[in-house]
Formats: sequence, C-alpha cells, structure tokens
Amino acid sequence: MEDLVKRDRKHIWHPFTQEKTAPPPIAIHKAQGAMLFGSQGEKYYDLISSWWVTFHGHCHPHIINAIKKQAEQLDHVIFAGHTHEPAVELVEKLQKLLPDSLERFFFSDNGSTSIEVALKMTHQFWINIGYPERKEFLALEGGYHGDTCGAMSVGSSCGFFTPFKNLMFPTTFIKYPDIWIGREDIEAQEESALTHLSLLLEKYPNRFSACILEPLVQGASGMRMVRPEFIENLIQLLRKYQILVIFDEVMTGFGRTGTMFAMDQLNTFPDIVCLSKGVSGGVLPIALTITNQKIYQSFLSEDIARSFLHGHSYTANPIGCAAGIASLELFEKASTIDQINTIETIHRKGLALLGKNECVKKPRVLGSISAFTVDKHIASQLSIYMLNEGFLIRPLGSEVYLIPPYCIDMNTLNDAYSLMNKALLELTCCNRL
Ligand SMILES: *Cc1c(COP(=O)(O)O)cnc(C)c1O
Repeated sequence: MEDLVKRDRKHIWHPFTQEKTAPPPIAIHKAQGAMLFGSQGEKYYDLISSWWVTFHGHCHPHIINAIKKQAEQLDHVIFAGHTHEPAVELVEKLQKLLPDSLERFFFSDNGSTSIEVALKMTHQFWINIGYPERKEFLALEGGYHGDTCGAMSVGSSCGFFTPFKNLMFPTTFIKYPDIWIGREDIEAQEESALTHLSLLLEKYPNRFSACILEPLVQGASGMRMVRPEFIENLIQLLRKYQILVIFDEVMTGFGRTGTMFAMDQLNTFPDIVCLSKGVSGGVLPIALTITNQKIYQSFLSEDIARSFLHGHSYTANPIGCAAGIASLELFEKASTIDQINTIETIHRKGLALLGKNECVKKPRVLGSISAFTVDKHIASQLSIYMLNEGFLIRPLGSEVYLIPPYCIDMNTLNDAYSLMNKALLELTCCNRL
C-alpha cells in the first residue's frame, strides 16, 4: 500500500527518526505470534519484540479476548476517588510475584512516567521526613530511563539527550563495569567503581536521595550486562548511607532475564521498582511504580501538601489492567519460563557460532536477551540484510541484539543466527584474509 506510506509521510512525525534521511516506514497491517505482516504480503519475524514490548507474541487470543470483554464492561473511569476490579486484581496478582516488602502500587501509563513517579516519590519522601537537603540522584553510567525530563536527567549519560542539557537536573553517575563472555578483569573493574562511589559518599553522606538503576541489563545503551554481585555490593554501600534504591525494570521485567524480574536473581530488594513494557503483555500502555511501607507511610498526614500530588488521565485504565491480568495468567503456565530457557540456550549456541567471526566482539546473553558488538557500519548493513530476509532487528549503533517474543519458534531463532553468520561473513573482510 504505497498510498498509506505517502499519507504517512505527509503528516506523521516518527519517534527517534531523522525524517529527512530515514527510509520510508514499513507499513504493517497484521501481526500474529512472532510475525509481522506487511501490506503487500511481506512477512517479518519480530526479533526485537516491537521495541521490547511484545512478550507472549502479537495478538495472543487470551489477551485479546480479555480486552474485548473488559471494553464492553468498563472502558475507563477516573482513578482518583474511584477503583475497579481489574486494577485490584492485577495488583494482587503482581504482589504475589514481587518481594513482600513491595506492596504499594501507583499506576501510570508508560515507562517514562513510572520513572518520573519514582523520582518524585523519593524526592518528596525526604522532604516529608524532614531531610530536604537530600535532593540529588545517583544513577549508573549509560543507564536509560525514558525521554521525559526527569528520566532524561538520570539517564543523561546514555548519550541521546544532548540538545536538552539545560532542561535537566544534575545527577551523579557511577561507573558501570559491564560483562561479556570472556571478559577477565571484571572484578577489578567492579572494585574500582565501588571504591570511587565509596569515596564520594564519605565526602557527601547526606547529599543523595536515591540511586536509580536497570538491574542486570542496561537496555537502550546496548544491552550491557553486569554481574549480580556488583549490584548487590553497590546496594550494600548505598544502604550504609540510607540512600533509597529504585530499580527500573521497565525492560528487564516479566521474564526477559530468565526470571520473572531481574531482582529475583539478587539477594536484595529495592525500595521502589518501576514496571511498564510487559505489564499488559505488550498490548496496551500501562505502568506501575511499586514501593514499600517506609516510603508510603511518609506521605500519610492530615495535610494535603504531604500527599503525592501526581496523576495521569489514563491512570489504571481498566482495559490495560485486564490485558495485564491475562498476560500474568499466561505466565502461570510453566511453558513460558521453559520457553525463555530454551531461547537462552539457542542464544548461547548462536553467539558461539558468530563469535568465530573476528569482527564480533563482546558476546553476551541473559535469559531471552542476546547481544554482541560490531563496527557501526556493519551493524547497519546487517540490519538491512536481515530485513531483506524477513527478520526484523534494530541495532543500537554498534550493538546488535535479539530480544524475541517468548512464542518464537526455535527453528526460526536458529535460522536467524545462521543468517546473521552468513551476512557477517559477507559483510566483513577480516575473515577472508
Ligand atoms: C523503554 C524504557 C523506559 C521508557 O519507557 P517508555 O514507555 O518508552 O517511556 C524506561 N526505562 C527502561 C529501562 C526502558 O527500557
């Protein structure tokens, strides 16, 4: 449907796109499972879960039916002063999967807003309990937390936000000792990051309100992974100075890292966790900022000024919540986690194959996520090659990654690796000398 693309180009401004030079958008008119169907009969395997949001596959009948049913019953209602069954049921179901201490759920509608909520909550927490001097945030170098101003501020070291420097509040960044298969000096790197932070905190023990981080994997800065030990030691140090800990599990949540949440692989909990992409299984925009009693209690008062004066029009949209409940029901089937484990096995095999090409650097895997580093030019050629073969990938600069929906057929995933291997051999000359 060339006509559709023409109409698109006339009025639409696409996200993260240089409109002047970008190729025309690909028109998609249907999706099913791990497949996207173009309007001219083209088929693409969605190896990036449509920007990391599709979990059980596109148009999963169980989720779609739940949405249909809910849409006929209650479409939306103001969430201040009102409540509804889907919101309560979703939260009850999620609480069973989270550490007991994370028990207060604040709804919003996307990852960035869930982060803004967490930042504002922790900021006001210190004001509420009488320590307004604790107002700066700590974050990890390279972390990405969304595109709104607060989220940009704590993510400013990821490199996407240069024009907006003057809109951001200052944040202090902690070095990020990332790991890949074969990295040997990791312990020294971790120690250096922690020593650096320790010195800083000794000097400014009362400066910081909270530290925000993506546990185990940084998504947008290129699927960069750390060892759980590092996060545990970091949190131990932060706790020594009463600094609150915010986990941004917007990307890592809902099985991506091989466990329901990345924090399930740690011996420690945050004070706040932010969830979004997977909350509805990837069908409707919905998000949650979940906190503990300590923070929640500090907002209780006779005084309205101490309450959390924040909210979005579509807070706890009932249809989104119904999709969320249906998505969690799918997780309750053991096969989902088995499927994620199988994906991980294929990732490891696939990366071992690709790793034979000298141009492939820093191979890394965690759960359903795999990534490697190549020359930036090769990464973009690779993505064009793969698209022509019907496989959608979208490298982040020089970082190529796969993050498929859990329903992906294992032969398809194996094929994707064989094709990438073939493409890399054709695109790089270093193995032909
Ligand atoms: C995608 C993402 C966000 C932002 O979510 P949006 O819904 O795109 O606003 C925040 N944090 C992480 C880790 C993400 O991957």
